[in-house]
Amino acid sequence: MGWRQLLVSIRHPGYNATMQARYHALSGGIAALALTPVLGIDGAVFFCASVLIDSDHYLDYLYRNKFTNFSIERMFEYNRILAGKASESGFLGLSIMHTVEFLSLVYAAAALIGFSFLWATLWGLIFHMAFDLIYLQRRGMVFTRALSLVEYVIRWNRLTRRGLRPGLPFSVALSDVLPTSNSLPREPEDRRTPQE
Ligand SMILES: [Zn+2]
Repeated sequence: MGWRQLLVSIRHPGYNATMQARYHALSGGIAALALTPVLGIDGAVFFCASVLIDSDHYLDYLYRNKFTNFSIERMFEYNRILAGKASESGFLGLSIMHTVEFLSLVYAAAALIGFSFLWATLWGLIFHMAFDLIYLQRRGMVFTRALSLVEYVIRWNRLTRRGLRPGLPFSVALSDVLPTSNSLPREPEDRRTPQE
């Protein structure tokens, strides 16, 4: 991938998970190099944290398909489909490692144990989150992803009370990518079209 392509992906709407991963690897790598005089070897930890935080997209894929399919390729396709649905009303995503609760846990561990690599991990996560939020904000999509588990539960229940089905986009995306042999049976209500 060339620089031009990368810049185009940053400037223009549309989601490409592989491009996003490269974008995070590039920005994290530059920041880690710049911070090496301060962080030393922990610069590598910072870099890994800033990139590996996105592995929760894979965890989400495994969790939603009930661990029946482990394909990385299908996970990317699943996330691409979901990103296309993110602007629909009633969409609510959650990335478990992109939550205040997860960050608080790492912060608590760093504060209690005090190992410098834990602080480097925390800063790597925050660095990544900042870029994600800028990316989402530029597309007017900040509120499509809950940033807290508590927020997620409250909003999910509220959507359900309003008669919306927040689980629908996920089951549709799943059945689109899963091979028919292990495609999960859809809820009967999922066959209805979402209400706007
Ligand atoms: Zn992310």
